Amino acid sequence: MKHTKSEQLFKEAEKYIPGGVNSPVRAFKSVGLAPIFADKAHGDRLIDVDGNEYIDYICSWGPLMLGHSPDFMSEGLEEMAKRGTSYGVATEIEIEVAKIIVDAYPAIDQVRMVNSGTEATMSALRVARGYTNRNKILKFEGCYHGHSDGLLVQSGSGTLTFGVPTSPGVPADVVKNTLVCRYNDMDDVRRVFEEQGDDIAAVIVETVSGNMGVVPGTQEFIQGLRDICNEYKTVLIFDEVITGFRLAYNSSIGYFGVEPDMVCFGKIIGAGMPVGAYGARKEIMSCVSPVGPVYQAGTLSGNPLAMFLGKKNLETLRDHKDIYSELDRKGKMLQEGIQNNLKKLGLDYTVNRAGSLVCLFFTSGPVQNFDDATKSDIDKFNAYFKEMLDRGILIAPSQYEAMFLSYAHTDEDIEYTIKCNYEALKASH
Ligand code: PLP
Repeated sequence: MKHTKSEQLFKEAEKYIPGGVNSPVRAFKSVGLAPIFADKAHGDRLIDVDGNEYIDYICSWGPLMLGHSPDFMSEGLEEMAKRGTSYGVATEIEIEVAKIIVDAYPAIDQVRMVNSGTEATMSALRVARGYTNRNKILKFEGCYHGHSDGLLVQSGSGTLTFGVPTSPGVPADVVKNTLVCRYNDMDDVRRVFEEQGDDIAAVIVETVSGNMGVVPGTQEFIQGLRDICNEYKTVLIFDEVITGFRLAYNSSIGYFGVEPDMVCFGKIIGAGMPVGAYGARKEIMSCVSPVGPVYQAGTLSGNPLAMFLGKKNLETLRDHKDIYSELDRKGKMLQEGIQNNLKKLGLDYTVNRAGSLVCLFFTSGPVQNFDDATKSDIDKFNAYFKEMLDRGILIAPSQYEAMFLSYAHTDEDIEYTIKCNYEALKASH
């Protein structure tokens, strides 16, 4: 496979954009390659500027449940754009999207649109602090909640790949109220609550972490968080930026049967447009400006074009719930295919999965937390990544990311991926 044009563009991009990319996870630096530049994408395929075609498991890092650019998605978009791209006054479509989200998520009465997952978590925490009148928050090692200062503490994926667990530029003062516990470890959580529980405004958690590979929370852990937050009147926030509308139509509530006090969404609710949202019961959301004193705003929040695509995505998921069983079947097919390959090759690696999120860890034994995940053999992963890319399979250039399946991934393409996985594992070991 030739990447001549991508390499040229990368050289040019590096002049004007740090590292040539607008988000570090797009760089292929950790695997020692120049990043590919996309030309177009459709269904489960992405085509780069050199004309190479890949079966895509990055899928924009999660928003594309239906795959790239399903035909119906762009219908009417031009018409919408002609009516205006942003107004700065309210629109009816914002109500429609808010209603779809509130109806889907039994734990919330109201939702506020923002422009990214980062904004959603940052704002939710501010509201939780305003609501409880407490300062401390608790997060988990390996969970990523966006790049706001207070949350860049022992977060996963990008920061993990680049070895910056706490970024320079984040003052120690800012993170002194951020407590960190081990994921899937209720004893650790209880210990911290016994010492400081009355000062903890919120616990924020990825119910299935997609930022240290794929590490599902255990039922006991997620229920344990609910119980301890009830006991201490702490706001439980599910960061569903990846899991929202992916694990089930009612997200983690459907998957775990546990309801949080607040939720953060992103990715799928915008179908690839820059969108995030946070929501809660009315009692909590009444703290938000202009009703209450907690300030949060956005020039482009609830942007009409983003709402237009988000609405179509959510309506499709709402009206075709078989999409979830299909995605689960495809996820299982991929997981079992990889597990069979590992067995045939005598490799003792772990494959974690939650629905359509799959991750092959280059380490053995259960992977249930950040420590387990970081035992992975990164050199082996990097070699495997290159072998997969050469065979036309695009996975994230990092061990600490998920493979994102979409409804557009066909059985034939998954079978081909499994075949390539066998060859790539063989070639890299
Ligand atoms: N929360 C989680 C769980 C995420 O995975 C991400 C991004 O991947 C974010 C928050 C931040 O979202 P964004 O990149 O849209 O700011």
